[in-house]
Amino acid sequence: MPYTAPVAEQRFVLDTVADLSGLTALPGFDNATPDLVDAVLAEAAKLAGDVFAPLNAVGDKVGATLVNDTVTLPAGFAEAYAKYVEGGWAGLGAGPGHGGQGLPFVLACAVQEQLTSANMAFSLCMMLSQGAIEALQAHAGPELQATYLTRLITGEWTGTMNLTEPQAGSDVGALRTRATAHGDGTYRLAGSKIYITWGEHDCAPNIVHLVLARLPDAPPGTKGISLFLCPKFLPDAEGNFTVRNDLRAVGLEHKLGIHASPTCTMAFGEHDQCVGYLVGPEGGGMRAMFTMMNHARINVGLQGVAIAERAYQGALAFARDRVQSAKFGAGGAAVRIIEHADVRRMLMTLKATTEAARALTYLTAAAVDRAHAGHDAPERRDFARAAAGRADLLTPVTKAWATDMGVELSSLAVQVFGGMGFVEETGAAQHLRDARIAPIYEGTNGIQALDLVGRKLAQDGGVHWQALFAEIRQDLRDLPPKGDLGLLRPYLDDALAALESATVWLTGNREGAGLTDTAAGATPYLRMFGVTVGGWLLAKQAVAAHERLASGTGDPAFLRAKIVTARFFAEQIVPPATALLGPVTRGADLLFAIPEAALAA
Ligand SMILES: Cc1cc2nc3c(=O)[nH]c(=O)nc-3n(C[C@H](O)[C@H](O)[C@H](O)COP(=O)(O)OP(=O)(O)OC[C@H]3O[C@@H](n4cnc5c(N)ncnc54)[C@H](O)[C@@H]3O)c2cc1C
Repeated sequence: MPYTAPVAEQRFVLDTVADLSGLTALPGFDNATPDLVDAVLAEAAKLAGDVFAPLNAVGDKVGATLVNDTVTLPAGFAEAYAKYVEGGWAGLGAGPGHGGQGLPFVLACAVQEQLTSANMAFSLCMMLSQGAIEALQAHAGPELQATYLTRLITGEWTGTMNLTEPQAGSDVGALRTRATAHGDGTYRLAGSKIYITWGEHDCAPNIVHLVLARLPDAPPGTKGISLFLCPKFLPDAEGNFTVRNDLRAVGLEHKLGIHASPTCTMAFGEHDQCVGYLVGPEGGGMRAMFTMMNHARINVGLQGVAIAERAYQGALAFARDRVQSAKFGAGGAAVRIIEHADVRRMLMTLKATTEAARALTYLTAAAVDRAHAGHDAPERRDFARAAAGRADLLTPVTKAWATDMGVELSSLAVQVFGGMGFVEETGAAQHLRDARIAPIYEGTNGIQALDLVGRKLAQDGGVHWQALFAEIRQDLRDLPPKGDLGLLRPYLDDALAALESATVWLTGNREGAGLTDTAAGATPYLRMFGVTVGGWLLAKQAVAAHERLASGTGDPAFLRAKIVTARFFAEQIVPPATALLGPVTRGADLLFAIPEAALAA
């Protein structure tokens, strides 16, 4: 199935949700002119559609293979990576200090969405490198930056993130990989990491591994963790990177999806010679890793959007072509299945929810940009702090809700195909298999929900959720009482009221046994949150579409569809989420009412 990047939709969301023009008026982003943004989206669309997308099926069928420590990707991947480097895409959002283009993160997200829709497994290579760039930009010293950061920004080398060990998954603090000072400013690492994405491959000549490890006598838990940079190749006497470091991929996972993303078991220091360089201070590993993970969580949320978009495009094309049965109750000739109400329901659910999740993801990414733009200037400090709080609050919602939607929507797309969705030929099955990882990695969605109710709601005394809800309420009040836009209001008012009640209940229930009740409500609460914010953002877009229609600017068909899509989401998707107030606030009693032994009986 081909992939066509939804450039007009992306641009519309950038304008109306991320407020790109407001963003580019801030210090540091004035280079993101409207023409440049259009050119970036159009060029990336070509790379995604013409270069990445054709490799998606072969990546799935053939996958990555490991022979003698070397991982090989199917033919075409290395060449496609070279085109990505040639186009300068790796440094799009990186700071200009080390060769990056310094464009807004939200624009880099729009590009990453296209690459991910085209080929999710491949796009992980770029995503991990971006995370490494962010961590080194924020925490590495000048020498490491000059040697490694610059080559990650050009894309010459790629990056990885090494947290997970067999006994340390969600519980990162349990990791055991050791690092010892070598006396010359370098360290020696020893240990094993599992599930390392793009931990070994043949698309770039060097790989920059960022590894969490413990120094001798480090305190237990996350406080005792430091971050190290371990390159696959070290410099020789001439400064050429020819000396193989003592680290290697010793295994490759066979998995449900993303077959072209090598998921490696990595061995560090089998001969006690794995050279590592400290990034940031000793014990500062989690802080540095969080720099990387916060952006990565938004990028993983984006994977949900991207895979849903790709699944929708495939389902839509199929539904326009497949002829089956007469219309319900009408008799007569068989029609294309897109004419059946139930298929339309599926397609509208796919379209509306994908657009809502995209809007949420771009809103969160733009908040990250606002938090960074000129935050050093005293007069901008409050604005930057509020934006950072907004980004913190929305990051777990973006990661978890968008990726849950990625799974549900790619499953729904399979349903549109009928039997052809279940067999591999159409590619619909691959999207569902690929989508399934996103709710698991980068902190499971269960952990995201706990982060939301446990930390993010309480952050700064709750001002961030209060400010968000106040903004939504004001926007809903401003909707005209009549017409299409007025019809949105009752559904969204109810959703906001329910979300607010749930929030008050959760935040007032935070001591002793009440904490288990809070934890029990976390996942349905996150869903209410995602759907309510998604509905609000579609309403915002509907208002903008209405204004543009009135002023005669833009494509009328696209703009009218925006209004209908917002209404469909408000009427059909929002009410079941509003009804989650009950499940959120019911507490944990029933979850534990059946004794563990009886569960197994
Ligand atoms: C394909 C793939 C790629 C990956 N890439 C990377 C990578 O590049 N680098 C890296 O470091 N790691 C990577 N990971 C690891 C990934 O981040 C972990 O799998 C994930 O964090 C979950 O850890 P776990 O698998 O040990 O599950 P567990 O932590 O064992 O969790 C199992 C279940 O228990 C739940 N659970 C656990 N703790 C709690 C709690 N406190 N409260 C409530 N529920 C809880 C979880 O939500 C989950 O449902 C990858 C994994 C996969 C499968």
